[in-house]
Amino acid sequence: MKRILANRTAQIDASGIRKVFALAAELNDPVDFSIGQPDFDVPDELKEEAIKAIRAGFNKYSQTAGDTILRQKIGERISNEFGWENPAVLVTSGVSGGLLLAFLATINPGDEVIIPDPYFVIYKHVLNLLGGKCVFVDTYPSFQLPLERIGAAVTDKTKMIVLNSPCNPTGAVYSEQSIKALAEITAEKDVLILADEIYERFCYDGPCTSIARYYDKALILRGFSKPYAMTGWRLGFAAAHESLRAVIEEMTKIQQYTFVCAPTPFQKAAIAALDCDVTDSVDEYRRKRDLIYEGLRDKFEVLRPSGAFYAFVRAPGGSGTKFVEEAIRNNVLVIPGNVFSERDTHFRISFATSNEKLQQGVEILRKLA
Ligand code: PMP
Repeated sequence: MKRILANRTAQIDASGIRKVFALAAELNDPVDFSIGQPDFDVPDELKEEAIKAIRAGFNKYSQTAGDTILRQKIGERISNEFGWENPAVLVTSGVSGGLLLAFLATINPGDEVIIPDPYFVIYKHVLNLLGGKCVFVDTYPSFQLPLERIGAAVTDKTKMIVLNSPCNPTGAVYSEQSIKALAEITAEKDVLILADEIYERFCYDGPCTSIARYYDKALILRGFSKPYAMTGWRLGFAAAHESLRAVIEEMTKIQQYTFVCAPTPFQKAAIAALDCDVTDSVDEYRRKRDLIYEGLRDKFEVLRPSGAFYAFVRAPGGSGTKFVEEAIRNNVLVIPGNVFSERDTHFRISFATSNEKLQQGVEILRKLA
């Protein structure tokens, strides 16, 4: 088999998550705190838009860069939000697609990418595939941006800093002040920022600040998966200031030879999604956040998540992996922190599930504390 497989496959290690799923397969109706997708369904009006698009014959390839009307509308929104005139926009197959294209278009072997740790898993594995070098900057225990250490980690090989606010897996939202300060550091060092803002709508304690408000050399990735619960529709977009147009153009070129385009009928529905109000869902998720945080805070070391739908909790006993095995033996699925981190001291809870399951899970976890 070694002769068949490319060497780069050895760069990817999915063992942490596989282990959880193998253990989970034996459970009967578990409390599933492992899944990173909303428990509500796509709003009916958006389902109708997709069906309408299919019936109207939008079933062929779209332009590589995306449906013209959708791109225009995204461009207008980005322009209003960041004051960017004529931003470059590419519709991608989910933010995952956008991340792959962004890294393919920018990372040479040996390039360093600074990533606050804990981090979303895709970054590390795709960068390893491409021969990029991940430079992790530890953010424990506050999970806020360690500005000084990020500044100190920049070398002449630094190509990019990855910013994910609200953050998966910590639920942290970076303060406006720290984002502004980071923009000053990066401007001085002239580094590209890749801002994964897939959870920007899921902000519970005030607005989320995008670095694009303070920094033009920022590549923004946003998605449709989370706010509209359409993870299977595979839609996202990349947007950048005019000065980074070449990056979006190169990403578009690579999309032409890989994904070709994002799913056409869903792009049509996404035009309507941009006007869809998701306040109720976000309010509901704020209540779920409160439920999980209030349910665990006196028994566990946990920070109140300000965004996304995750809590990153310190494992009693100190080992994330051991605690997760114990939780799974008790019918609760959680993910060990080392899947998202160079440390194995925590575990991740996704609170994107029913309130009933949240209550059940809280009760079980409290007994394990
Ligand atoms: N970025 C982050 C931080 C995520 O949590 C996810 C999904 N779990 C993605 C990107 C990818 O989402 P999608 O490809 O569905 O847009």
